[in-house]
Amino acid sequence: MHGLMMNTPLTITSIMRHVERNSPEGEIVSVTADQPLHRLTYRQAFARARKLANALNRLGIASSERVATLAWNDYRHFELYYAISCAGLVLHTINPRLFAEQIEYIVNHAEDRYIFTDVMFVPLLEKLAPQLPGVEGYVVMTDAAHMPQSTLPNLLCYETLLEAESEDFEWPELDENTASALCYTSGTTGNPKGVLYSHRATVLHTYASALPDVMNLRAGDVVLPVVPLFHANGWGTTYTVPMVGAKLVFPGPKLGDGETLHRLMESEGVTAALGVPTVWLALLQYLRDSGVTLTTLQRTIVGGSACPLAIMDEFREKHGVETHHAWGMTEMSPLGTFNSLLPGMETLDHQALQAVRAKQGRAVYGVEMKIVDDEGNELPWDGERFGTLKVRGPWIASDYYRTGEKGSALDSKGWFNTGDVATIDASGYMQITDRTKDVIKSGGEWISSIDLENAAVAHPGVLEAAVIGVAHAKWAERPLMIVVPGEGGNLDKETLLEFLAAHVAKWWLPDDIVFVDEIPHTATGKISKVGLRERFGDYRLPTDTED
Ligand code: ADP
Repeated sequence: MHGLMMNTPLTITSIMRHVERNSPEGEIVSVTADQPLHRLTYRQAFARARKLANALNRLGIASSERVATLAWNDYRHFELYYAISCAGLVLHTINPRLFAEQIEYIVNHAEDRYIFTDVMFVPLLEKLAPQLPGVEGYVVMTDAAHMPQSTLPNLLCYETLLEAESEDFEWPELDENTASALCYTSGTTGNPKGVLYSHRATVLHTYASALPDVMNLRAGDVVLPVVPLFHANGWGTTYTVPMVGAKLVFPGPKLGDGETLHRLMESEGVTAALGVPTVWLALLQYLRDSGVTLTTLQRTIVGGSACPLAIMDEFREKHGVETHHAWGMTEMSPLGTFNSLLPGMETLDHQALQAVRAKQGRAVYGVEMKIVDDEGNELPWDGERFGTLKVRGPWIASDYYRTGEKGSALDSKGWFNTGDVATIDASGYMQITDRTKDVIKSGGEWISSIDLENAAVAHPGVLEAAVIGVAHAKWAERPLMIVVPGEGGNLDKETLLEFLAAHVAKWWLPDDIVFVDEIPHTATGKISKVGLRERFGDYRLPTDTED
């Protein structure tokens, strides 16, 4: 027997309608490429989204067709999020930091009809345009006064386009499983793969993300997504923050600029900010250099790669800011786990508390997790055994967009292999020990590169550290540590090895440490192990003697 409840479709349009009714005066504050500080309300933004939907209609873009964005975080990008998805089209957010050939590949693979772009990406698109035959036009996200001179074919101005349109638009009643957005994973090997989100998955993810032990969002919050809106839906912030009626603050192109982030946080009263560890390094560096502090910020939410404890400590001890580790991936919309303390944990001693905080957190309702060994046997949740992490749930990809192999993303039981290696403890806290492809296999035993990196960055003389496995005649592979020294720069190998020895098992200690000026990063701001392997792949470890 079916229940007798309404079957209201879970659509992004329903989030928009709710916000327009219940929080119309909620604010969006943005730094943009053409304005130092811009403010508008949700009511105004959604009125502009209706104009935009009329414009998309006039451009002749039909149901389910893809419209791309190449843009930073600001109100125009927010408007595109709603106008495109709620008009029944697919919002394709492109990461501008990808290699030009990757952008060319994904635009053609997605068959984008129009590209909405920030002014600064026009030169990039001019170079690419001859290779993008399916793109009919380019819309620059600015006003007439700031339109660049360009050779791009069919070049349009965002504000001019909107001015010509009416604020009346009848949003279509969409099936909740309609595709809403498309985001390609960086694809460290092979071509990038498209993850196609649906309205239903997005709404469920939005509900779950706002929960108290997750992002704990409420109407009084002021949220600064430093994570780019092209990176896995900006971790859902464009939906979650308006849904609860909170204020959004967008840093525009100034994501990595500590001074701008600090200024926005203080002037707008930001209470929660989200981003990858690298941006927090930049902010903390700025705070240290300028001697200022954070007076309103309560919490940072950090994901994308493991957050060094040193970042969490500095936020808490110097600025009274709690840092929450979160883990997820593009294929998971992106949220999988979130680290909040369980009742009673506040009284743990410092060391025990640090051990909990370093973990990526407990599964958010909606996400099922398991860890398995190489034969696919499920491993116990004892915090010790580590294995491949698999997940399933309603906001996790069941397939990639147009790969030609249906169901290729899942195993026979419907689980998605995250490519991460993890432990899960008895309380459900998951900890990533490595990516499957980065784990170091020394004499049949596994060494976690992430644990070694975390231990190294806790040393005040280390700015950044990465560990890769290097071929070794006796052990097959042994760890090589690559370090960017911090201030002072007079750290030596022996001192660092001694420091590490107090934190990790002796047989995990790197066989060598190399000091460099810079470590390469991927398009999403993570340490590029591929880049490091290319550079140090043939490195001969001093311990690798012929005998
Ligand atoms: P991309 O691979 O395109 O950079 P994703 O966001 O999809 O972007 O990357 C997901 C991967 O990032 C995860 O599978 C995991 O390896 C890593 N990751 C995400 N969050 C964390 C975290 N808190 N700690 C450690 N690794 C993380």
